[in-house]
Amino acid sequence: MTALVFDDVGKTFADGTQALTDARFAVAAGEFVSVVGPSGCGKSTLLRIASGLDQATCGAVEVRATNLGYVFQDPTLLPWRSVRSNVELLAELHGIDKAERRRRATEAIELVGLVGFEKHLPHELSGGMRMRASLARSLTLQPDVFLFDEPFGALDEITRERLNDELLQLFTARGFAALFITHSVLEAVFLSSRVLVMTGRPGRVQAEVAVPFDY
Ligand code: ADP
Ligand code: ADP
Repeated sequence: MTALVFDDVGKTFADGTQALTDARFAVAAGEFVSVVGPSGCGKSTLLRIASGLDQATCGAVEVRATNLGYVFQDPTLLPWRSVRSNVELLAELHGIDKAERRRRATEAIELVGLVGFEKHLPHELSGGMRMRASLARSLTLQPDVFLFDEPFGALDEITRERLNDELLQLFTARGFAALFITHSVLEAVFLSSRVLVMTGRPGRVQAEVAVPFDY
């Protein structure tokens, strides 16, 4: 089963900037794939196209997921809402009834290790904990494929390592697929079964590196 397919995808913006060319890869169901490459090589563009936030100018994109989870570097929690209320927000916007979204939020809060912080406001949390809340919020839509845009880029090394450990456990246990953008080759190798290496302008997927299972 394939979760995501890019077939020779290219993107040229309205101002003529060519951001992406000939992107060709697939993510299997349950597979964790990272994308590394220098700033400006088109990683975010690739992810935005995968999410449907942006459209490719050529090529074909196929997403075979019931729901997509999208996690950014900026957790964008509403500052006046509690953790629980923030976690329930996406489900609320999707019209999921109150009892069901409470149930989903409770489960998600447990999964990300935020039990006991439900009533806290975002500014009362550390950066790592805000990222956990953001992940919990996307879990409430029960996605089977997650798109991550450099989610841990603003966190200190220790928090980042801890979240990497937890993310790996969660994704292995649940069988979620992921396309994960990062500047860190270490992080990519730690989390992924495969790493896509992007370079150049317009950005191009130059290589795919398989990470040995027992690395
Ligand atoms: P990365 O995520 O690897 O840093 P991006 O995908 O953000 O790279 O950007 C790739 C290239 O496309 C860059 O040169 C960037 O300046 C350009 N770009 C991104 N968004 C737009 C836009 N909306 N309009 C024009 N150019 C853009
Ligand atoms: P993370 O790795 O998620 O960023 P921290 O290292 O900041 O977490 O925090 C470690 C632990 O300290 C948390 O699991 C939590 O129990 C506690 N903690 C952090 N921030 C707060 C807070 N604002 N109020 C109460 N406890 C906190």
